[in-house]
Amino acid sequence: MNRRHPSEATLLAYVAGTLPVPHSIVIRTHLAVCGECRETIRLATALGGALLEHAPPAAMAGDALERTLAHLGEPERSPAPARIPTTVQDFATGRWWCLGPGIRLMPLIRRDRDDARLDLIRVAPGVALPGHGHTGSEITCVLQGAFGDETGEYHAGDVAEGDEDLDHQPVALDTGRECICLIATTGRLRGHSWLARLVQPMFGI
Ligand SMILES: [Zn+2]
Repeated sequence: MNRRHPSEATLLAYVAGTLPVPHSIVIRTHLAVCGECRETIRLATALGGALLEHAPPAAMAGDALERTLAHLGEPERSPAPARIPTTVQDFATGRWWCLGPGIRLMPLIRRDRDDARLDLIRVAPGVALPGHGHTGSEITCVLQGAFGDETGEYHAGDVAEGDEDLDHQPVALDTGRECICLIATTGRLRGHSWLARLVQPMFGI
């Protein structure tokens, strides 16, 4: 089975630091399980470094060298890198809200300064979400189980990306486990389904 990856444009935006925080968290979760995308990130970072080397020199403060030298020999201040959260248990630290039979939502970031948010959604096997679209972008990483929509099937570790042109009706596949996804979105839910009517006032989605 082929893994489903983020687009190159999204990976480059991740490297450049231009993705909203929720979207970066979803990409980082995928990177933890995908060597292929980690290699793309490594190449993109190396290319960025090479471009910097050939950039014209910029003026620096007169005492920059002196201040840098003064820091030499100081103990390392950065803490040891924390383990990257990748599992349902890592993320599911809040409260699950029931949205309907077999559908639960846990808001993790309720709109940051980029108007982006991060949610966990948990859907019982065989249950379909009502068809909907978004007024912005949507990046999903499957943490457990699998789902399918008009664009294909997505299994644990896979990433699905959509923009305002995507109208879809995801269905949790019958893998014997609930489908649990980490979803970063910008904009609002589009559509007049009961899902939109229910979650917009409650969660501001
Ligand atoms: Zn990948």
